[in-house]
Amino acid sequence: MKQSTHRHIAILGSTGSIGTQALDVIRANPDHFTVEVLTAGSNADLLRAQALEFKPNAVVIGNEAKYAELKDVLFEEGIKVYCGADALCDVVEMEEIDIVLTALVGFAGLRPTMRAIEAGKHIALANKETLVVAGELVTAAAREKGVNIYPVDSEHSAIFQCLTGEFHNPVEKIYLTASGGPFRGKTKEEVYHARPEDALKHPNWEMGAKITIDSASMMNKGLEVIEAKWLFGLKSEQIDVIVHPQSIIHSIVQFQDGSMKAQMGLPDMKLPIQYALAYPQRLPSDFPRFDFRNFASLTFEQPDYEAFKNLSLAFEAMHRGGNAPCILNAANEIVVRAFLDKELPFGKMPEVIEDAMNSVAFIAKPTLEQYFETDEATRTYVRNKIKAAPEPAKP
Ligand code: NDP
Ligand code: MG
Repeated sequence: MKQSTHRHIAILGSTGSIGTQALDVIRANPDHFTVEVLTAGSNADLLRAQALEFKPNAVVIGNEAKYAELKDVLFEEGIKVYCGADALCDVVEMEEIDIVLTALVGFAGLRPTMRAIEAGKHIALANKETLVVAGELVTAAAREKGVNIYPVDSEHSAIFQCLTGEFHNPVEKIYLTASGGPFRGKTKEEVYHARPEDALKHPNWEMGAKITIDSASMMNKGLEVIEAKWLFGLKSEQIDVIVHPQSIIHSIVQFQDGSMKAQMGLPDMKLPIQYALAYPQRLPSDFPRFDFRNFASLTFEQPDYEAFKNLSLAFEAMHRGGNAPCILNAANEIVVRAFLDKELPFGKMPEVIEDAMNSVAFIAKPTLEQYFETDEATRTYVRNKIKAAPEPAKP
């Protein structure tokens, strides 16, 4: 990245939770950041408002039916308007862009992230599913192109911050902290029929629906374990998960001398977003500060691998390697959608994911296209399973 402190940014998924918070950071730091590209899936109203405020070079709307709602009003402002999945991949190659913030949700982030890397753009990575699915290919492409991947996920940002100044010191182990979500302390039976409304109530973080369900089911932490393996080049036995309900310690690195470094702060995604966009600088901010008087104790527990089987499934997928994490991820995306649509009980999600992991063909060294085939095959398999043996959620 240029050592100049001014960065030209593309935000993929600017209308989401991470995207809107990234725009808050940019709005507060106009001397440091310029928005070049904004994209959304189908929220044309918000994308238009964002474009009129930040005046990017171009916008992309995924849903082609929404193109007409944007084009005239934005063309008049000199903003280019594109639509569709291919445009999302093409737009990241724009010369002006220094860094692409990948804040799309799910597998849809893989192709544009790969295209951005191939075009030599640095990545601020929120879209963890990309690394879960194809971490080996993505990190190899980044190395080859000399592209940096800056973590946005708060745990990985914490590890990255702890490693600053320590890059030549081997890591013994990392501890990813987990809040435990809204069902912490509950048994498998108690959560089996949990309702979407309850699963969507995260105690500490305001996030998009998919990651909020992943947090309630602990799949989010499972995905983060795999994300950490690729970001920091770790072996699976070097990654541990610890439940820390207050979400103040965002993660911990343990070095070979036994010393542990942790990064702390109030749970606020704007901080890791800003750190990723401005690295290596720490820009001043007015984010609320942690006050020790409000937290009498910080506590730690072991995760309950029995009640939250997804965490074990993610470790298992990581051990198997190859396309196993891709199968895990695709199956998870489908069961989360089915759970939100009340077509599948909460407790059934890990069973369906495990079934897919044992049924979809394993490939030890997949190509990029084979990841796409695996994703498609898994989605079809899981959709058919849910249709064939319906077990709707209790109202
Ligand atoms: P949201 O659901 O809030 O936002 C997703 C964004 O991606 C929206 O802009 C959405 O557009 C767009 N989008 C979704 N699907 C597509 C698609 N197929 N094609 C094009 N655009 C699409 O998600 P979050 O912001 O919560 O999460 C984004 C990523 O960041 C996820 O991978 C998540 O795991 C990760 N993350 C999020 C955190 C958080 O605090 N939210 C914390 C750590 C990681 P539209 O609005 O039009 O639907
Ligand atoms: Mg996280």
